[in-house]
Amino acid sequence: MGRLPDRRPATENLLTMHELSIALNIIDIIDETCRNEKDPAVREIVIRVGDLSGVDTEALSTCLHIASRNTLLQEAHVRILRQPGTGWCAHCRKEFPMEDILTPCPECFQPASELREGREMQIDSIVVE
Ligand SMILES: [Zn+2]
Repeated sequence: MGRLPDRRPATENLLTMHELSIALNIIDIIDETCRNEKDPAVREIVIRVGDLSGVDTEALSTCLHIASRNTLLQEAHVRILRQPGTGWCAHCRKEFPMEDILTPCPECFQPASELREGREMQIDSIVVE
């Protein structure tokens, strides 16, 4: 019996580990939030993920699906909203949209001096019954 081949690159495993720990954190937060409810069942949860947060929304969705078995989130409808990125160029004194963390200023092509929006990763709302 040899080892099963793992065709995925190591970085992809690391990425999924990152999203898995976020998913477990979200479940902890919901457990804590519903601590005083009697027989709570979470119907819906809305999570906002910034495009510059480094969180892979598909991986997060998969990890939440797996990690929520036998938890309050088991039956919940999970909605993941994306928050677009906005950068600030100190040189041009302008804000500009950023697709990812490496998007340069469209005027002077310098890297952003500041990331103004899109780094968040938060729970927007929880619907409990
Ligand atoms: Zn600029």
